[in-house]
Amino acid sequence: MHPAVDRSAGYAIAAPEVTTVAVAGMDEVFPVARVFCVGRNYAEHSIEMGHDPEREPPFFFMKPADAVVSAGRLPFPTQTQELHHEIELVVALAEGGRDIPVERALDHVFGYAVGLDMTRRDLQAEAKKAGRPWDMAKGFDQSAPIGQIRVVEDIGHPTKGAVWLRINGKPRQEGDLAQQIWKVPETISLLSTLVALRPGDLIMTGTPKGVGAVEPGDLLEGHIDGVGDLTVSYDSSAKAAFRDRVTR
Ligand code: MN
Repeated sequence: MHPAVDRSAGYAIAAPEVTTVAVAGMDEVFPVARVFCVGRNYAEHSIEMGHDPEREPPFFFMKPADAVVSAGRLPFPTQTQELHHEIELVVALAEGGRDIPVERALDHVFGYAVGLDMTRRDLQAEAKKAGRPWDMAKGFDQSAPIGQIRVVEDIGHPTKGAVWLRINGKPRQEGDLAQQIWKVPETISLLSTLVALRPGDLIMTGTPKGVGAVEPGDLLEGHIDGVGDLTVSYDSSAKAAFRDRVTR
């Protein structure tokens, strides 16, 4: 038998741990089911990525649940020379469902958080060029730092307000939630026609303009009005080694 086999809990091997996110004002934590992400949901970001926002309906991609990490110090990801930041409003679902009507979509929301859709832009560019999946560009380990969830009872449903990201104190991304092309209720409704949504699902709702590269040692400070803040720093010890790690 494989040495990892341990039948003591009724599973053939150790069961995966549940990834959780802290909830402001609660001792209990939010269990993450899945992480869905909306692509190109702010016109000016769509343009900076070389697309025409008028012609593009929303599309989705995913990160694994265990890509979610809380704020703090993170190791610099492997296999990239172009790690990009994308500051985003994150929607946390309390209830699931399929074919959820737009007008009932917000009833499914537990709360909101500030998140980062960290992206290996070099791998994404290669994937786009080759018509391949984005998973390894978007869904790598610790690719979704997420701050505390604020519950709807405390903050309502934010539809406008500044979204920004600073690196080492300098402004990088700036936008407003009101600039989202597909609003949160529309996003939930549309996504629920593609998959049955579940309690614990997170939706990263896209990023405003100004995406760019992060280097080892950088300090990222993100903010969304009415939702909160998120601070992440990348380990600098890998600085000399990380460019050599790339084997492609
Ligand atoms: Mn994104």
